[in-house]
Amino acid sequence: MYAQILIEYNNKTIDKTFTYLIPKTLKDKIKVGMQVRVPFNKRLINGFVLKISDTFLGDYDLKKIDSIVLENFVLNEELLRLGKYLKQITLCSLISAYNTMLPSSLKTSKNHDYSKYQTYIILDKDISLVREYLKTLKYLKQREILEKLLENNEVLKTKDNTSTVKTLISKGLVKEIKRQVYRINYDDLNYDDLNIEKRPSLTEEQNKAVEEVNLKGYKTYLLYGVTGSGKTEVYMNLIERVIKSGKRALFLVPEISLTAQMIERFYKRFSSSVAIFHSGLSNGEKYDEYQKIYRGEVSIVVGTRSAIFTPLKDIGIIILDEEHSSTYKQDTTPKYNAIDIAKWRGRYNNCPVILGSATPLIIDMTMARMGWYQLISLTKRVGNAKLPFIRLVNMQDEVRNGHGIISRLLERKIQERLNNHEQIMLLLNRRGYSTTVTCSSCGFVYKCPYCDITLTYHDSSNSLRCHYCGYTKLKSDICPECHNHSLNYMGLGTEKLEYELKKLFPRSRVIRMDVDTTSKKGAYASLIREFTEAKYDIMVGTQMISKGLDFPKVTLVGIINADMSLNIPDYRSGEITYELLSQVAGRAGRKTSNGEVVIQTFNPDNPYIKYVTDNNYLGFYQYEMNFRRNTFYPPYCFIISMLISGKDLNLVEKESQSIFNYLNKNVSLKTKIYGPNAASIGKINNIYRYQVIIKYQKDENLFKTLQYLDNMYASNRNINLDIDINPLKI
Ligand code: ADP
Ligand code: ZN
Repeated sequence: MYAQILIEYNNKTIDKTFTYLIPKTLKDKIKVGMQVRVPFNKRLINGFVLKISDTFLGDYDLKKIDSIVLENFVLNEELLRLGKYLKQITLCSLISAYNTMLPSSLKTSKNHDYSKYQTYIILDKDISLVREYLKTLKYLKQREILEKLLENNEVLKTKDNTSTVKTLISKGLVKEIKRQVYRINYDDLNYDDLNIEKRPSLTEEQNKAVEEVNLKGYKTYLLYGVTGSGKTEVYMNLIERVIKSGKRALFLVPEISLTAQMIERFYKRFSSSVAIFHSGLSNGEKYDEYQKIYRGEVSIVVGTRSAIFTPLKDIGIIILDEEHSSTYKQDTTPKYNAIDIAKWRGRYNNCPVILGSATPLIIDMTMARMGWYQLISLTKRVGNAKLPFIRLVNMQDEVRNGHGIISRLLERKIQERLNNHEQIMLLLNRRGYSTTVTCSSCGFVYKCPYCDITLTYHDSSNSLRCHYCGYTKLKSDICPECHNHSLNYMGLGTEKLEYELKKLFPRSRVIRMDVDTTSKKGAYASLIREFTEAKYDIMVGTQMISKGLDFPKVTLVGIINADMSLNIPDYRSGEITYELLSQVAGRAGRKTSNGEVVIQTFNPDNPYIKYVTDNNYLGFYQYEMNFRRNTFYPPYCFIISMLISGKDLNLVEKESQSIFNYLNKNVSLKTKIYGPNAASIGKINNIYRYQVIIKYQKDENLFKTLQYLDNMYASNRNINLDIDINPLKI
């Protein structure tokens, strides 16, 4: 018997399958989709079995498969095929597709068992004999264990009972067994029974939404529901129906910050039938959750992007909440979008895919309007809550009057809400204290020596930091150029905002949510819990706080600088701004009628900001479509972004030009190639970055051309070519 093994060749991600002989000892064990160890170039490496056959036509000697890496894990038919699809849409290699799909504990580079075992003690004698023995036993500790064993069959071995257990073993009364245990268990989570979520009865709109979904067939639905319209209740209801029919559900949220609240809601509703899967888990925890899914022990998976690849069987529904989120797109190679994977799996499992959002991606709303997706709308907030009232503040006037950070209106509103013991959320999409440090005598600006970016001052660590490469420098009091005491701290970050709030409202309790305060494991969840329990009055945060969070006591939302995302050099900056501002605004007054939002801007006449103020998604959609048509951007065409990078600027320029030329020669006449240009951040970590952009509508040979270029540069040590198909950022 022979097997075709897919391995990582030469440390490059070029696919190669090699034929190996299956030794007799492994003949009955080896299956397609299994990970095995094979000899290659005088060492042993791991690979996947892709094919098993009885014959081999070559006339040379074959090496034997050395061993099986993971006995109890096989990539199933669906995942084997999904890997090929992933390769096709991202141009990655098949081996990196499979490795991307697996948690790090199961990737080919790993080969130890992540299972956690615990030792239990069980009786090693007949019950009657043990009873007899107990009659005369004087030692209390031994008695205790034996009595427990008569009741429970097994007792966990712990530090405290080790010596007693040893004695009992030596007497032949008990023996040890090892058993795999899961690191996360519903029973240990201590969800207070009294808190078990009551199922609200659905509103008419929610009911209609649920009824519109056909659970018996593949179709993608766009659930467009305003913030607070009760989308989650619709999801849960659909999931309940799916589970009743004996199938399973895959539920994705965009960020770990959201999973905390969502997981709690799911656990309360569905208890132990839930597995969770997100990057906030340790490798061991992920491994365990993956096992639960693989073994079919759960009916629901709740997770972030990578959960879309979990081996859940009999999927009856796939839901992506907040579908507009950029986190559904992986920003490292392979640059896949979980929405595409969801649709593929929906088709494979013949089940519905639900994309939910209050601010759907332009592209997905277009799909719905064209009839490719079925549109379902939730137009009203649940109960008496109304959409929040939004006011604009022109910051030009405020700066003149010395209120450049918090406007007079916002200050007054915050004070009102504090007096009423209501909560406030403030968005500022920049972390740190000051975003630029300059010298007012000589004009010196602190920049990262390795990146094309200014350094951000962080007050909490008294240092200047690069947000791209992590370069850190201690703050100094004098300018390194002219040695004057004339450094200015300009630009505003979350730290400075927090500081300003403490000055203005000394008695308020402020909590800050950004990468700096939430990087420790569990920090997200505990900050969110504390804010829910009203241990804080004001939450300051980056876009991390914009989506999905549901805090009933928040009645005021302030957007400190609405213009920040408008200035991103990207065709989607308007869409991103609309989405971000509307989502944050949607956090206000979700259970009450007095929700209010204050948007601070230097561009009060900007159309995107106007549409946000009017809660007018469809107006925004029309406006944006018009812009996209005039400028020829998606959905009027497709985009591919190619990033060419390397240490040597001249070489990067030269190769970018030759890539451009090659494309121009080989693509169809209608396809447009732009560039090569320096990327918007021209250097990161001493690596220069150039860009070529492709816009096309239909081009049958394009992917072949790209594949050719990709293969060619895969073996180039000095130039890295990174191809992003349908990028969310260019
Ligand atoms: P969305 O995701 O659409 O922004 P949520 O699903 O978070 O909205 O719902 C907003 C709030 O309304 C939540 O607190 C939820 O518990 C509550 N809710 C949803 N549906 C109902 C209902 N039918 N009856 C009462 N409360 C509901
Ligand atoms: Zn840097």
